[in-house]
Amino acid sequence: MDSKKKIAIIMLGAPGSGKGTQGKLLEDKTGFKRYVMSDLIKKELTPGTLLYKQVFKEGILLNDSHVFEIFRKYFKSESDIILDGIPRTLDQAYWLYGFLKNHYYTIKLIFLNVDETQLISRITSRYYCPKCHRLYNSQLKELMPKIEGVCDDDGEILIQRDDDTSQIFNERLEIFNTVKEIILNVYKAEILEVNGDEDIETVSKEIIRKIILYK
Ligand SMILES: [Zn+2]
Repeated sequence: MDSKKKIAIIMLGAPGSGKGTQGKLLEDKTGFKRYVMSDLIKKELTPGTLLYKQVFKEGILLNDSHVFEIFRKYFKSESDIILDGIPRTLDQAYWLYGFLKNHYYTIKLIFLNVDETQLISRITSRYYCPKCHRLYNSQLKELMPKIEGVCDDDGEILIQRDDDTSQIFNERLEIFNTVKEIILNVYKAEILEVNGDEDIETVSKEIIRKIILYK
């Protein structure tokens, strides 16, 4: 094992696949430095501006050159890293690849593969109480309300987050699938596929087991 060898782990997974949770767990277990692109962008944009609204309310992607500029500003090349939320376009995929290679990184892409039908059913069954914010899930026994559609604690009518309604979620999934093909194609030699349908700890162990071979 060469302790000077640096590794960059790119996390890729559909919305709702647990990518963020797994990235955080990986950070906790390995001490690798994690960059969550949406957090960095949030730090850089001013709330209340049109651009902020477009990016964080309307889901419009920040242009590539702006993304590169922000990433470069926060990036420190001395440690092992985990990347979440970058790349998200073809140009970002190529740019990042070259950038990491120039900084002598071994690149590995963790692709959290999940069953889409299960994913859609899990996400679109999430509800919450607008009054006490308790979370419910109409598919999971332990999170089902006693009376369908009504909060156990205060009787409020349960609602869904916009992102969790099937129409919006399906749109996000479709966008992800297009981007996924592009990214997997650029990084095809570096892909480590992990079955994301298992429980959180099993998936986490599998990720560690796969990357340890390169560290
Ligand atoms: Zn409630």
